[in-house]
Amino acid sequence: MNARHCHICSWASRDGVELPGWCPRCRGRCIADVADLPELYRTLGAVMEPGAAGDDVKVGGSRTPPLPFRMDPANLRGPATAGALPGPDQHGALSIATALWTTRQAIREVCDLPAENTGWRRGHGPGRTEDRIAADTKFVLAWLDRFAERARPDELQAVVEVIGETRRRAWNTCGYSAHKVCLGPCPADLGQGQTCGEELWIDPVLADSVTCRACHTRWDRRYFLWLRRMAGPEGEAAS
Ligand SMILES: [Zn+2]
Ligand SMILES: [Zn+2]
Repeated sequence: MNARHCHICSWASRDGVELPGWCPRCRGRCIADVADLPELYRTLGAVMEPGAAGDDVKVGGSRTPPLPFRMDPANLRGPATAGALPGPDQHGALSIATALWTTRQAIREVCDLPAENTGWRRGHGPGRTEDRIAADTKFVLAWLDRFAERARPDELQAVVEVIGETRRRAWNTCGYSAHKVCLGPCPADLGQGQTCGEELWIDPVLADSVTCRACHTRWDRRYFLWLRRMAGPEGEAAS
């Protein structure tokens, strides 16, 4: 639904420019969130295996002993469950497969796609394999812009919240924030006075540059201190 303000963050465009449902910043973030899900799904598999997590994934902060049984990786890697459609009382308790599946269903309805075109068959729930996750991710990315243009504000908000919350939980469960450093918000200019604002996370040992996951601006190492200073005390505490 075109409007002069974003249905997600309420940012208003200048000079009467119509937005296709959402602003460049919210669009970039949601696309980045969807695109992250297959990799997070794979990493969660490593987190779940006893003893496997220590190699390339740190689980939790160093001061907190790991829980004897980690609920979240198992939940996030769970199968898609049609009964868990997001509603007003449900926030972020979905598996990755369910989040993608419900998004796919929302797209199918809003974009008037016949069931055949989605690869979905009645009676066959979505699988939980990496192939299925990859296929659903590809589908969602292909149709997301069309969906944003056509969806009601509440339909778009529901998808952005489900995807964003699921990605955030998966990212935290994988322990990325425990061994990466937040440089602060990406200051890239998206036009019309809007800055990107996506948090930039780096591996402090390995990173020579960081590419913003939302707007794809590449920040060289020589900008790191500057970004950190721009972020100020809030940026330091962002983790
Ligand atoms: Zn927005
Ligand atoms: Zn950015």
